[in-house]
Amino acid sequence: MLELTPQELENLAKKHVMQTWDHSGLVLTEGRGVKVRDIWGKEYIDCTSQAWTLAVGYSHPKVIQTVQEQLSKIVQTFANVYNVPQIMLAEKIVELTPPEFTKTAFTLSGADAIEGAMRLAMRYTGGQDFITLYHGYHGRTFATTAMSHTYPSYVKCKQGMERFIPKPTRVPSSYCYRCSFDKKYPQCDLFCAKFLEHALDHGVDTKVAGVLVEPCQGNGGQIVPPPGYLKRIRQICTKRDIPLIYDEIQTGFGRCGTWFAAEAFGAFPDILVVGKGLGGGFPITGIITSEKFDLFDPGDWGATNGGNPLSCTAALATIKVIEEEGLLENTKVVGKVFMDRIKELSSTYEFIGDVRGIGLFLGVEIVQDKESKKEDVQTATAIVQKALQKGIIIAKSGIGDVGNVLKIKPPLSMTVSEMEKVVDILEACFKETAVGK
Ligand code: PLP
Repeated sequence: MLELTPQELENLAKKHVMQTWDHSGLVLTEGRGVKVRDIWGKEYIDCTSQAWTLAVGYSHPKVIQTVQEQLSKIVQTFANVYNVPQIMLAEKIVELTPPEFTKTAFTLSGADAIEGAMRLAMRYTGGQDFITLYHGYHGRTFATTAMSHTYPSYVKCKQGMERFIPKPTRVPSSYCYRCSFDKKYPQCDLFCAKFLEHALDHGVDTKVAGVLVEPCQGNGGQIVPPPGYLKRIRQICTKRDIPLIYDEIQTGFGRCGTWFAAEAFGAFPDILVVGKGLGGGFPITGIITSEKFDLFDPGDWGATNGGNPLSCTAALATIKVIEEEGLLENTKVVGKVFMDRIKELSSTYEFIGDVRGIGLFLGVEIVQDKESKKEDVQTATAIVQKALQKGIIIAKSGIGDVGNVLKIKPPLSMTVSEMEKVVDILEACFKETAVGK
């Protein structure tokens, strides 16, 4: 079918596709379920769901069929008209969230949606300054780059753009394995949340517009908060009537075994930002909020292809598959298989510093040794490469100089036996790595 050889295609990619990412070199051609083939015909189990988007796997027949039906009806409507899939999706999302969430707005990129949420918070408070977390990641536009972490590569990418880059007040996140305050949960009594409270009251020069957090931090290293943390932050914001924004672009739509991380941790924000898994691979992101924050005037925000009928159709079909196939429950069961087995293995391998996760939002932190906890990027990279050779695509916390956390976020449809196979292969990679050390 291909007119060019795999090698020619790879060469062309290098020549003509700008290297805006640290490219893996893979050229993928077709997939089904959790499996995908590259241009050379090699098959992989994909534990990345392609940037955690393919919630129900590659080419789910029900999603494909529904989108094909929509294709023959209408593929695009402008933002000043509605389309039926958009209306139905809005209604479905409202059904999945608590009663006060009655409003939705759709766009195309996560960063764009985060900026929309920031603008709503600014409208509401009249403030312009945000509190964000260490290790947070919110996108690559000017404002979302600013809201994200300060790892070296990101500091570099902000250089020369200072006029366009606002400065948030960053506070430590609830990264218990590396607590910024050298405390231990639960004796710490959530000191990091108290610190955030202090920063809100004393650390910001101007009016605070909002608090922007990922409930579980993805690109910062699969950091899952301890029980009570998000509830505490919720109370702190409510007390001051400061909008709390959750970036659930990674965690929304099932990744934690619940529709939203907010549900899993018992604390909803004022503004919920979603993306990735929502579209099951089709481009759609969005803002979900209440009447109180329905503050845009016509023309304020949006994108030409936001609320596109095809993406909305795919999102509706993806949600339906999650419901019909019991994928929330599956996510919990399959995630537990990984956690139990890797935790067991961690006692054998000195370089496994921490194993953490919720649902199929899983991370393994690779360190030089358990005592020093020094990040070992080299070993993490070697494991990712060995896994790839053995037919498993995993990612690592690919940020700057601290890419030492293996990230495992497969489709929610992964089966127990597929996960067992992934762990078997990972175990083989760990063994080989230990021998080479
Ligand atoms: N927020 C989080 C938590 C993300 O993981 C990402 C993307 O990785 C974004 C925001 C940005 O989304 P996008 O790449 O669609 O702009």
